[in-house]
This record gives sequence, C-alpha cells and structure tokens, in this order.
Amino acid sequence: MKNFNINNLIRENIKSLKPYASARDEYKDATTDEMVFLDANENPFENGVNRYPDPQQNSVKELLSEIKGVSTKNILLGNGSDEVLDLIFRAFCEPNKDNIITLPPTYGMYDVLANINAIENKKVVLTQDFQPKVNQILEAVNKNSKILFLCSPNNPTGNSFSLEKVEELLNKFNGLVVIDEAYIDFSEQKSWLEKLANFPNLVITQTLSKAYGLAGIRLGVCYASQEIISVLNRIKPPYNVNELTQQKAIKRLLKTAEVEKEVIEIINQRNIVIKGLKEVSFISEIYPTDCNFVLVKVDDATKRYKQLINKGIVIRNRTTQPLCENCLRFTIGTEEENEKLIKVLLLISKS
Ligand SMILES: *Cc1c(COP(=O)(O)O)cnc(C)c1O
Repeated sequence: MKNFNINNLIRENIKSLKPYASARDEYKDATTDEMVFLDANENPFENGVNRYPDPQQNSVKELLSEIKGVSTKNILLGNGSDEVLDLIFRAFCEPNKDNIITLPPTYGMYDVLANINAIENKKVVLTQDFQPKVNQILEAVNKNSKILFLCSPNNPTGNSFSLEKVEELLNKFNGLVVIDEAYIDFSEQKSWLEKLANFPNLVITQTLSKAYGLAGIRLGVCYASQEIISVLNRIKPPYNVNELTQQKAIKRLLKTAEVEKEVIEIINQRNIVIKGLKEVSFISEIYPTDCNFVLVKVDDATKRYKQLINKGIVIRNRTTQPLCENCLRFTIGTEEENEKLIKVLLLISKS
C-alpha cells in the first residue's frame, strides 16, 4: 500500500461538493440546558423526540470507541450497514465508469447497490472451499476498480477468509478493501479492526443487527481512516440515524455482558443444531460456520424448503447461488425453535 492516495479514488463531484449544513451542525454545543434553541424550526413542546437528533451520534460513537478500542474519528454510523455501503459507493464510484469486485456466493446487497449506482460488478467466484482466488481477483482489477468487497465471515457460506489471503489483497489492491464483518462476534477469528492503522485502504463494516440483537433499529457501523470517514461524512444525510435508534443503541452498548451471554448461547445452540443436522439422511454436507447460521447441502433444496414451510419453518433456499447448488441456510434460533427444526427435519426425512 505504498502508493495509496485517497484523493485518486474520490469522485470529482464529491471532492468539490459543499455539504449541507444543518442547524445542529452550525451550532454544536447543544449540551447546556440554559441555551434556547430557536434555530431548527422544531416544535418546542417536549415529547422526547421533538428535537432533531445528534447528526454525529457522539454518545453512540463514544461507547463504540470504548468497546472496540477505536477513536471516534474513525467511526461513521449509518441507517444499517446497507446505508454505509451505499455511501461508500456514492463517494468513490463514478456511475457508468468505475467497477467493484465481489466474490460470490456472498451478500446480495453489494450487487444490488452496484446496479442502483450504475457500477459494473466484476464477480470472481470463491474456490470450492469458499476462499478468495487472490490471483484471479488481481487479474480482474483495472484502473477503474475502486472497491473490493470481502465478506468475512461470509454470508451465506458461513466461513471466514484466510488471514494471509486478505492481507495479500489489502497489500496488492490499490482501491478500497471493504471487509464486511456483520458476523464477526460469532467468529473465532479476530476483527480486522486491530489492523486499521496498518492499511490506509481498509474499510470495516459492522452492524448492530446480528449479535447485538437490534436489527429493527437499523444501525450500521463503518470503521476507516479519518480521511475516508471525513469523505463519507460529507455526503451522508444530516440526520441519518434517528433519535430512538441512538437511544436504544446506547442502552444496549452499556450492557455488553448481556450481548456476550447471548452470543455464547447462540454458539452453544449452533453446536447442538449441527449435531442434529448430522442425523438427517438427506443432508450430505454441513459447511463449517463462524456465523449464527449454518449452510448445508441437501438432495433437493427446493423440495426440502417447501416441506419445511408446510411445517411452519422458514429458512433460506440458496440453491441459485454459485457453488451453492441444493444448499439451504438455517439461522440459529432459540433452543425451542432449534429443537423444532431438527424434529421436523427428521420427520420429513422419514416420509
Ligand atoms: C445481515 C448482514 C448485514 C447487516 O446489514 P444491516 O443493514 O446492518 O442490517 C451486513 N452484511 C452482511 C453480510 C449481512 O449478512
């Protein structure tokens, strides 16, 4: 990463953009109770949410900073990781000109966002054991390749990418490397956050939707260099994370012991589910997982999917994804839900 210069990646119109200045941006010291705020055309009658939220979500960031050991200046929050990913596209990828690289089978949003933003998606399928093909990826790169998306642990396969391969890509790819760590809390592998300072092109996304149990509030987190974070800050909608979301996130981030307990329980349940799946005759392969889900290969995914629906269990049929022919993805639920899943799988295997 010797020649990395963020200015070579930013879109021209974004470089010259004058960001919207909200009332709360112009006067930031909203801390003292004595001030009278007549600047934002809010309704003055208190109901808990009559004021605009903090556009920089400082309280949430301070907690994340403590928990993750990263400066608040290296954090940007979004309306789910999906907004964070979209901001990255819009800041760095010129429509109808630039391209990104993704490694199917992987999270579907990268491709959707590429299409929305009119960006070519160069797809380099993973190896049979779901690892990046480093040489092929580097061969696919051209001067308009702006972002490489690595989802590790990967959805829907469940595995983490080899550290050596990721490091080689970080060193040899001159654009941004976005590592999507939505499932990192369920993994044995360490987060790449520790290496943030070593790689100026590294962007890490995480979310409160999975391990933290807050999918409904929509809070995604982006960690990157101050330079990258400040570019994203210029284009984000001023109040992209609402007040209720910020309050709920703060409450949860103050109780990380609770989160850790739930994660341990989910991992225990994952082991129990895997044991049960081994007894199901039509399952031919159970893939290794670092996530709160398990991918399995069956005899006929679409038939088994329908049978489960008929028994009141909804899972994900991934059979149309590359390398995932006849594969089903099971999320780990509560003990009762998992018992029901295994019971029903055994039942339909005998019918
Ligand atoms: C679930 C998931 C996310 C989370 O997205 P949010 O918008 O934060 O809910 C991100 N990336 C991957 C790979 C996921 O599976």
